Amino acid sequence: MPPANDPLPPLAGLTRAHLDWRSDDGGEDAPHSSDFDDVYFSRHDGRAETEHVFLEANRLPERFRAWSEDRPFVIGETGFGTGLNMLCAWACFDAHAPASARLHLISTELYPLDRRDLARALDAWPDLADRAAMLLAQWPEPVSGVHRLWLDARVTLDLHFGDTTERLRWLDGRVDAWFLDGFAPARNPDMWQPTLFAAMAARSRPGATFATFTCAGVVKRGLAAAGFSWRKVPGFGRKREMLAGEITAPPEDERRRATPWFTPPAPRPRRRIAVIGGGIAGASVAAALARRGVAVTLIDREGPCAGASGNRQGVLYVKLAAETNDQSRCYLAGLLHSRRWLDALDPDGTLWHPGGVLQLATGPREARRQERFLDNHPLPESVVRGISSAQASRLAGIPIESDGLEYPLAGWVRPDALCRRLAATPGVTLRCGEVHDIIATSEGWRLSMTGAEGENELDADQVVIATASLANRFAQTADLPLQPVRGQVSSLTLPEGAPAPTRVICAGGYVAPPQSDRLTFGATFRPNETDDRVSDADHRANLDELTRTLPDYAASLEASGASLDVTAFDGRASVRAASPDKTPYTGPVPDADAWRDAYAVLAKDATRVPDTVGRHHAGLWISAAHGSRGLASAPLCAEVIASRICDEPMPLEAPLVDHLHPGRRLIRDLIRGV
Ligand code: SAM
Repeated sequence: MPPANDPLPPLAGLTRAHLDWRSDDGGEDAPHSSDFDDVYFSRHDGRAETEHVFLEANRLPERFRAWSEDRPFVIGETGFGTGLNMLCAWACFDAHAPASARLHLISTELYPLDRRDLARALDAWPDLADRAAMLLAQWPEPVSGVHRLWLDARVTLDLHFGDTTERLRWLDGRVDAWFLDGFAPARNPDMWQPTLFAAMAARSRPGATFATFTCAGVVKRGLAAAGFSWRKVPGFGRKREMLAGEITAPPEDERRRATPWFTPPAPRPRRRIAVIGGGIAGASVAAALARRGVAVTLIDREGPCAGASGNRQGVLYVKLAAETNDQSRCYLAGLLHSRRWLDALDPDGTLWHPGGVLQLATGPREARRQERFLDNHPLPESVVRGISSAQASRLAGIPIESDGLEYPLAGWVRPDALCRRLAATPGVTLRCGEVHDIIATSEGWRLSMTGAEGENELDADQVVIATASLANRFAQTADLPLQPVRGQVSSLTLPEGAPAPTRVICAGGYVAPPQSDRLTFGATFRPNETDDRVSDADHRANLDELTRTLPDYAASLEASGASLDVTAFDGRASVRAASPDKTPYTGPVPDADAWRDAYAVLAKDATRVPDTVGRHHAGLWISAAHGSRGLASAPLCAEVIASRICDEPMPLEAPLVDHLHPGRRLIRDLIRGV
């Protein structure tokens, strides 16, 4: 199998499935692929076929009944199609699994159905209607990558959009049961290749089973060569035979040979986890863990929504590089994730407002950059598109002089209310205190803190540090380079009838649609400044930026009677944190001394990768350095940490999980001899 460390493809939209609807033997129209000339399912007996081929042959009812592990049961599927198999697996899980069990579904898809086609196809199964509605409500945009959907409190679905074999190679997770689907091998020979079976084997848990409708020779040979044993079992309906089997001893994860330092630490007890920092990073980790049944203590010296997360308005937006890089991949995944997550968390939109973000090109350099970005990224217009100044003006309802990009899925959020909502997740206990030491014990960790009642301690199995620019003040994180960045937002009162944007507009700074009569704009960006007092100088800088970006609008504001006297402005200043490469730190905290020792040889020859697994401070995690884009990054990073702690598949491709790893700078510095 080719190495899984090869670069991910550029961010791109996927081709939609082309369907025609054919009357099958049941007399009703069933989805048929025009591209592959094959059926998705028979409307007549598709349910029964799914149950026979995929559920029964993988022995799911009995395995679900017996499931008592402290991690979810994981099903992997090749070819999501209409989702019928996965919805049936979910129904089977609900019928048989104990209340404490959880289910994690992973499915690949290269040609996602259009939402309307999906709805029409799933209409065939009235008793799956509620489940189909959950899927349809979260159905992702057709963009390559991993899309995590929350089907219900116990069931998660990760859609890995892209080619099956590639996606399985990049999967960071292991599967208990495979649904080997996809159109018939004769109609889809590109998919049924030896590399597919090798990728499945490499992502299998010991004892993982598989089932498939086909008995084709290429499949039998491929499965056997990859290490699966197979047997013929009775097929469904007119098909006499099909295949089922298992893999006893899956191969090792070859990916880690090139990057042994990123080998994830083994799962540890997680009865009680302490999360330090009540901003969006910490509160979203706390909520993600609590959702998985973990008891969480969320500690903050000021209460929830500290720091920059205390702003009344924050922008959910991203700025993607002209040429795709891993940071852009993470941020686009983060934006799409945050959008689905907010939709699910707050369907009524009390904590956030969609509506889109416009990113203006106020000078020729940025205009060229945006042009290159669009040329390099054939993404759907529903995700990002180029717009003229006239379109921008129409969209925002104010005069705009520059062309730019529109991100229709972005918007603005009430970070303060969002953090409070997350901190109120059942299972999260809030505690006020300033943690000054984290000490390893035989059981886990002891936190020493100063609170209202003076000095006190808290024991936890594991700890997540999410304290922005203070995240490296602990002995275990002292080597993590973090830059404090002061940022101030300004707001002014709009007189009645004053013009105001209906979309968030970004350029050097941003201006958001008003909340009641307050127009908020900003924010300043002052590296290495830690003063969080509001200053008139920063109000002036914000006003200057607004005037530079939107000169006609600034003039019309003044003409409407709005006071542009900065001494009358309101504002809020806070200190954010940035890493040197501007990517957040997300994952287990490396034992820096052990890494320097184990990997010292890289300084002489970066190709001599030692066969030594990276040592971490067991049960210590970090989510920090989200800069000013935490609303796009922190919720996805929270899933990364919660998924790893709970021994689940990851919500991002393996190279992107590595890209976020807090130890990446250590390795870079060792290689560079810094
Ligand atoms: N499991 C589906 C269900 O429950 O509705 C039916 C699957 S349908 C028969 C086969 C699916 O495989 C199609 O959706 C097709 O687009 C997808 N597919 C085909 N080749 C693929 C590839 N190389 N990578 C990912 N998906 C692929």
